Amino acid sequence: MAIKIYNTLTRKKEDFIPLEEGKVKMYVCGPTVYNYIHIGNARPPIVFDTVRRYLEYRGYDVNFVSNFTDVDDKLIKAAAELGTDVPTVAERFIDAFYEDVSALGCKRADLHPRVTENMDIIIEFIETLIEKGFAYESNGDVYYRTRRFDEYGKLSHQSVDDLKIGARIQAGEKKEDALDFTLWKAAKEGEIYWDSPWGEGRPGWHIECSAMARKYLGDTIDIHAGGQDLTFPHHENEIAQSEALTGKTFARYWMHNGYINIDNEKMSKSLGNFVLVHDILKSVDPQVLRFFMLAVHYRNPINFTDELLRNAGSGLERLKTSYQNLKHRLEVSANLTTNDDEWLDKISDLKNDFIKEMDDDFNTADGISILFELVKQANYYLMEENTSENVIVSFMNTFEELFSVLGLQLETLDLLDEEIDNLIQERLEARKNRNFQRADQIRDQLKEMNIILEDTPQGTRWKRG
Ligand SMILES: [Zn+2]
Repeated sequence: MAIKIYNTLTRKKEDFIPLEEGKVKMYVCGPTVYNYIHIGNARPPIVFDTVRRYLEYRGYDVNFVSNFTDVDDKLIKAAAELGTDVPTVAERFIDAFYEDVSALGCKRADLHPRVTENMDIIIEFIETLIEKGFAYESNGDVYYRTRRFDEYGKLSHQSVDDLKIGARIQAGEKKEDALDFTLWKAAKEGEIYWDSPWGEGRPGWHIECSAMARKYLGDTIDIHAGGQDLTFPHHENEIAQSEALTGKTFARYWMHNGYINIDNEKMSKSLGNFVLVHDILKSVDPQVLRFFMLAVHYRNPINFTDELLRNAGSGLERLKTSYQNLKHRLEVSANLTTNDDEWLDKISDLKNDFIKEMDDDFNTADGISILFELVKQANYYLMEENTSENVIVSFMNTFEELFSVLGLQLETLDLLDEEIDNLIQERLEARKNRNFQRADQIRDQLKEMNIILEDTPQGTRWKRG
């Protein structure tokens, strides 16, 4: 049975058949790194990390790429406000992003490319679009000729004429048509810039994803994902750019996660109800936040309230307690008992039910209900007078397996001080040898265990978070 994915492009659940058997090329739009992420921004990393984990669980080799937008108007503004430069702001909030999402149990992407490290391919991409007549230069800016792309609007299911009504030309823009969008933006006095055939400037937001997805994953990718708010215009524009350039399908499955509301209200700056992940994790277990988000189907909206978050906390606790109860019983269980087969079948049926739910467009919400059914059965089993190791281990393995698909941990791993010191030493060595991947891995590993590292001129200090 194939996994089914709801494809925004066709508005249908479709059988997932990757381009190349057993392999998945997946691109998720990453953050613009000018600030700490709020809980709305944390949903795509959690959702698509879970999608990736599940695809891997089902035997796919997933190549997962997620970008950082490390230059744009917001970064320029933030740098001015903080009295520093754009690269410093980017570095700071890339670190903060890694810290937040790794606490939330998200694995690093195979690659996190940055705009500023890919300027050559972005410029090349724009040049080709100009050559093909899909783009034009105007006053040092470059725009995409939207009407030239016949299928424009196919992702968000809008016609160009509908879109025309809402389109405006901003002051200072010299576009042929209000629908045209920016590919390259001329730098204003004092702004960070790169040299280009059209003068000093920087790329527009949409073009970076088209260029980096193509460079790192090829002309056609399997899954392109992001928050629902990116469907239009960002992803629509990505399609227009990429398909105009290659003449091929850009992404075969488009996945979008739903919004998060706070106490039934939309999160917005003006309402002052922004909840930063960085702040909330000071008082909430990151695993609870992850569990809370996965308890709702990824396409549905989430209503974030303290009460619902508390409920998620007690739900997760119930699952973990069940696992601990099984573990304690293990020591006093016999090797085998007469009704083992019956129970082993029951457990394996539940695991298959979980897989069935996840196969159906990654239905973590109903998958989690199956986990609670597993708790119920485990409780029944533990009421039996004679229990067998066989069955207990099968229960425990199933818990472990399904928890790891969801990126959740059953036990908080406690490290001894000495083990922490050893890991810190290893990280130091890795950095000395410029093995930054290993160094980051150790940092993430410690972070997951709530150990916070602080690099000082006197060496690395650590504390339990
Ligand atoms: Zn993007």
